Amino acid sequence: MGGDEQRTMNLPIYFDYQATTPVDQRVLDVMLPYFTSAYGNAASRSHAFGWKAEEAVDTSREQIASILNASSKEVVFTSGSTEAINLAMKGVGEMYGSKGKHIITCLAEHKAVLDTAKHMEKQGFEVTYLEPDANGAVTAQQVAGAIREDTILVTIMWANNEVGTINPIREIGAVCREHGVLFFTDGTQAVGKIPVDVEADNIDLLCFSGHKVYGPKGVGALYVRRRKPRVRLVAQMDGGGHERGMRSGTLNVPGIVGLGAACAVAQQDLEKDMAHSIAMRERFEKRIFEALDHVAINGDEHSRLPGCSNLSFAYVEGESLIMGFKDLAVSSGSACTSASLEPSHVLQSMGVGDELAHSSIRFGFGRLTTPEEIDFAADQVITAVKKLRELSPLYEMVQEGIDLSTIAWTGH
Ligand code: PLP
Repeated sequence: MGGDEQRTMNLPIYFDYQATTPVDQRVLDVMLPYFTSAYGNAASRSHAFGWKAEEAVDTSREQIASILNASSKEVVFTSGSTEAINLAMKGVGEMYGSKGKHIITCLAEHKAVLDTAKHMEKQGFEVTYLEPDANGAVTAQQVAGAIREDTILVTIMWANNEVGTINPIREIGAVCREHGVLFFTDGTQAVGKIPVDVEADNIDLLCFSGHKVYGPKGVGALYVRRRKPRVRLVAQMDGGGHERGMRSGTLNVPGIVGLGAACAVAQQDLEKDMAHSIAMRERFEKRIFEALDHVAINGDEHSRLPGCSNLSFAYVEGESLIMGFKDLAVSSGSACTSASLEPSHVLQSMGVGDELAHSSIRFGFGRLTTPEEIDFAADQVITAVKKLRELSPLYEMVQEGIDLSTIAWTGH
């Protein structure tokens, strides 16, 4: 894999790169020996199997430090972003809770952050949930306005997983630094996709995950700043004291090797990958907008993840649309909860009405996406939308020039 070679089009086509990515062949090749021949426990100090595993873990730490512009001592391995988020937020809360019990985050965060915040509320913390703007972004001014004497942590995601909006992380980090408040950012969608620099961007804690950067699932990392300021955490897992006491548990050596290799590839190919994903996204959106009216982009058009296109197709129900193109693997703007189809909390927080939220679909493009796949997908989408709109009396009325602004469209 590398994206250069010609491939025939296999169906279904994967357009869900924000959900997960395939493991890059170059990453898999580096990982394989650590399952079969070099299978030592990185904590075994008494023999060569252990030393080899430890050496591989050290290499990975260096590769991760390099892509973040951090030091290898600042990297803590976890099972993924969800665990890293729990460790960062609860770990900071427990360590600094005697200083203050106020935390700031945003309504458009991933559930891993929102549910951790909710848990902490039950433990006596007070959480301010900032409302993003219509593009899904929060500003440094909003953060500054919410900081109080007792604020100990600000948690704002780098890039949103549903709409791709990139937050002004450097400015938010600067505000936190100015006020002496720790800044944690969920970098799950950002690392390996756009430039990340924990020094220049004023970050104290940052998490990311292997499976979003063409690495394996079940492995991730938490960056924990060691100098200016030194961040301390209370471990959330008791045990053998691995990872300098911050995360006990035998290290997932093949996964860690894969995470490091994925970072090395992403760092080396960053510009090429970004240019490719942007070209794919632009090709897709151009074709859609040329053929269809009443389509809106959700997210910040000018500050968006290269491979993310979240579109609302008015007068069409997203789930029906997805049924209409079964050869495309995409996500809808609705989330299945136990009993019903809820509009996405991210779109809701941006003020997108339930109808448009239900008509939204996230298309994710990445390293393996080809122009042929884009054209095929765009054609499928255009055909499906047109077909569904033919059945929509409201769309017909709009075509006839009837003002629908006073009529509630349920979208179902
Ligand atoms: N944060 C964001 C922004 C994500 O997109 C995801 C994955 O869906 C997570 C956190 C959780 O990551 P993981 O699957 O590694 O636990």
